[in-house]
Formats: sequence, structure tokens, C-alpha cells
Amino acid sequence: MQKKLLINGELITGDGPKIPVINPATEQVLTTINAASNEQVDEAARSSQSAFASWSRTTPADRSAYLLEIADAMENTSDELAELESIDCGKPLASAKADEMPLTIDVFRFMAGAARTMTGSATNEYVEGHTSMVRRDPLGPVAAIAPWNYPLMMAAWKLAAPLAAGCTVTLKPSELTPLSTLRFAEIVNQIIPQGVINVVHGIGANIGEHLINNPKVEAISVTGSPATGMTAMRAASKKIKHVQLELGGKAPVIVFADADIEALVETIRGGSYFNAGQDCAQPCRIMVADSIYDRVVADIAAAVKTIKVGTQTEMDVEMGPLISSRQRESVSYMVDRAAACAEIVTGGRGLQRQGYFYEPTVVANVDNDAEIACQEVFGPVVSISRFSDTEDAIRWANASEYGLASSIWTRNVGRAMAVSSQLRYGFTWVNTHGVSTPEMPWAAMKGSGTGCDMSVYSLHAYTSIRHVMIAHNV
Ligand code: NAD
Repeated sequence: MQKKLLINGELITGDGPKIPVINPATEQVLTTINAASNEQVDEAARSSQSAFASWSRTTPADRSAYLLEIADAMENTSDELAELESIDCGKPLASAKADEMPLTIDVFRFMAGAARTMTGSATNEYVEGHTSMVRRDPLGPVAAIAPWNYPLMMAAWKLAAPLAAGCTVTLKPSELTPLSTLRFAEIVNQIIPQGVINVVHGIGANIGEHLINNPKVEAISVTGSPATGMTAMRAASKKIKHVQLELGGKAPVIVFADADIEALVETIRGGSYFNAGQDCAQPCRIMVADSIYDRVVADIAAAVKTIKVGTQTEMDVEMGPLISSRQRESVSYMVDRAAACAEIVTGGRGLQRQGYFYEPTVVANVDNDAEIACQEVFGPVVSISRFSDTEDAIRWANASEYGLASSIWTRNVGRAMAVSSQLRYGFTWVNTHGVSTPEMPWAAMKGSGTGCDMSVYSLHAYTSIRHVMIAHNV
């Protein structure tokens, strides 16, 4: 296992305290890894600033070539990276390989292309005798903070866009899941110039906070909880830094009476329990038209009961454990509170075995303003509530403090268009949920964040608009 940090082009052991890395499926300590010291974080930020001077002056074609090389190197080590991800997060190995690695790698390939497509307004003589042009130049050194649910994929989202734009990045993976990112650091160190990517390790409230407050950092990019997003905004306010946030979610799934129920049930069975439900876009708040409510509850419950839970390499395993005992406790308390005023149709308990396992759970007869319908659980739990009036469904969905993913299920195209135009969510799927592609933004509104990851919009977010005006003087 690669346990060193990447600072200024060198792999070095952290000078901070040792942090255990735990396999969530067995509760066993896999290894311990030294965190960075504050001085090492400062060194990473210094190196990032110094590398920015040359990286920001490379051509888009050069940066594109580097990103393609990174993607190829990841592809060549894809199985090894997926194995690290699986053991570190508890994910089924087959899914880590087949479902996560292709999109993780493709983000680098997409940004390699996007780097060469920057567009803007036309150069012109808006003032007589003067030519005006708009430039988009890289923001500066970025501090990137990644979460534990998809460690390497989120690292890819945090790195590919700023690198393509000409920014340098110091990345901190979650202290719970550093393995794949540290191995990636070793791989990328063979490719990228010194200081363009630095990787540090450590507890969020210590090392993460020290990094985002470093004065050499000019932009902060976080994927994590709303609390960490607020910390980033506070840090940014001390020196005026750009902030890019992808935070929590509570995705409403609005199911009309004419929906394809079989397709819905298949999507819920596959999507809501994928990654043990630890997914910011998880289809978790199902709102169903009165007339089909009982059938939808019965069909979803029957399907969810068949999900095979187990360790990473158990035969046919579909769902692994939660990331930590703390996460399982948090899920468990929330479901227990929900049980007082709703019906647990299936699941609702931790599994009596080694590992942080929790049963795939369906909670029905949930009020639309209940805690379980409105707050992020971040576990294998869906709530199902009912509506009779479309306007009520839209109002309840929009009342959420979150604004990330949503979906609408109907065969009526006009209704799908009308409802999606009124939802205040960064993205809305119609008759599906969870399908993503690097060309399209993973966009956030309200308490779910600012801006987006992936797509050319994320590339643009790591640039500043500049106006250059030339007097003709002739
Ligand atoms: P978290 O905020 O606790 O941790 C995320 C990262 O932030 C970790 O690297 C952590 O060390 C760091 N961190 C924590 N406190 C910090 C601080 N004070 N200063 C700087 N860094 C700090 O979140 P989590 O529990 O790891 O992840 C789950 C959350 O992330 C959920 O709310 C989920 O919805 C969200 N998430 C969002 C997306 C998205 O694209 N919108 C994707 C994945 C996860």
C-alpha cells in the first residue's frame, strides 16, 4: 500500500499523527497512515503556488496531453485502484471495477478535450479606436477537499477541471478513505510536473481547515457535508477566495399515476441502495400519486428484500456496509425516530455480524414534512409518501433545504416538461435516476452547493473572466 503524501513532486511520509484505515466490512485496521503536519500542508500550498506560474502558461493542448496520459495510466492500474477503493470503503469489488472506474477515468478524458474548447464573447471595437477582448484565465492554486463515498471519483472531479483550466491543486482525501488517492498520487507523480498536484492526508477539522485557510490558496473546492461547505465559505471570507461547493442532497422522486412502475422499482432497487445509499443523488424521497401508492410500496418492498448484502467479494453481493460505526449509528437513530410516526415496511436494523452493515430499508406512510422525508440519511433507506395534487408535490419538493438531484416519473411529456421547469434542483431526470456523464453538469442549488462538477461549466468555474482593451493610437 502506498502511504506517502505527494508534496512538491516528492512522495514523503506525513509528520502528523497516525490515522488508522479501517475495512468497514470487517472492522479490522488495514493499516495506519501518518497525517501531514501543518508545515507540510504549507509546503504543499507553496509548491502549488510556485508550480502555478508555469502550469498556467502551458497551452491547452499541453494540458490536454497530460490529462490523457493520466487517464491512460489510471486505466492501466484500474483493477488495483478499484481493489483499494473496495477494501477501503466496503464496496462490492465488482461494482467498484465496473461502475466507478470507467466514469472516474472518463472525467480526465472529457476535461482533456474540454481544455481546448474555451469560448467567449467576440472581440470587437465597443469603444471607437479601442479593441476589447475577453480572456478566461485560471483562478490560481486550488485547495480541494474530497469525501469518502466515492473517494477516487470525487478526487477526479476535483482535479480534472481545475488542471484543464490551468490551475494547480492541493487535494485532501477523506481521512476515512485515503488509499486509492494516495496510490493515484504515486501514479500521477510519474506524469505531471512538480507541484501541479499535491496530495495531503489528515482530519478535516485540522489539516483540511489548515489547507483551505492557507493564504497561498486562491480557490476552495469541496465535496462534502453542508457543515464543511460553510467552513469553506468562512475560510474564503477571510481573504476573498473563490468557492465551489458540492454538498449534501435529498433527492425527491415524484411518481405520477401514469408512471412505468416496473422501471421505477428497478431504479429504486438498483440506485437507492447503490454504495449502501451513501450517495448525494440517491433517489431517497419517493413521493407517489395516491392512486398507485399501495402498489408502489408493495413492489418496492418486495424488490428491496431481495438485495444481497455482504462483504466486498462475497458471491453476487450487491450492497456493502456503511463507512463507519458512526455513520451506521446516525442512520439507525434516524430510522428509529421515523418508526414512531411511520411504518418500517422492510429493514430498519443493523445486521448482527461483523462490519457496519445495515439492512436495506423502506419506510412508508411518511408525512411530506417528516424528518426522514426532509433530512439526508446517507444510508440504505428510502421514505415513501403520497400526494394527490401536482402543485403540492412540487411545493413539498421545493421546500427542501437541498437542491441537488430530483426525478419525475410519468409517460406524459408535457407534464414532465412542466414539472421539471418548476423544480429547484440542480438536475432532474425523467423516467430514470442516477445516470451521469462528464459532458453534463452535476449541478447544485440552494443548500446543496454552488456551481457544478463535470461539464464545460465546471471548467469555466476554475477561470476568471478578464477584459483586455487596446487603444489603437493611430
Ligand atoms: P464531510 O464534510 O464530513 O467530509 C468531507 C471532506 O471534508 C473530508 O475530506 C473531510 O476531512 C473534510 N472536512 C471535514 N471538516 C472539515 C473542515 N472543518 N475543514 C476542511 N475540511 C473538512 O462529509 P462526508 O461525511 O465525508 O461526506 C458526506 C457528505 O458529502 C454528504 O452530505 C454527501 O451528500 C456529500 N456529498 C456530496 C456530493 C455532491 O456531489 N454533491 C458527492 C459526495 C458526497
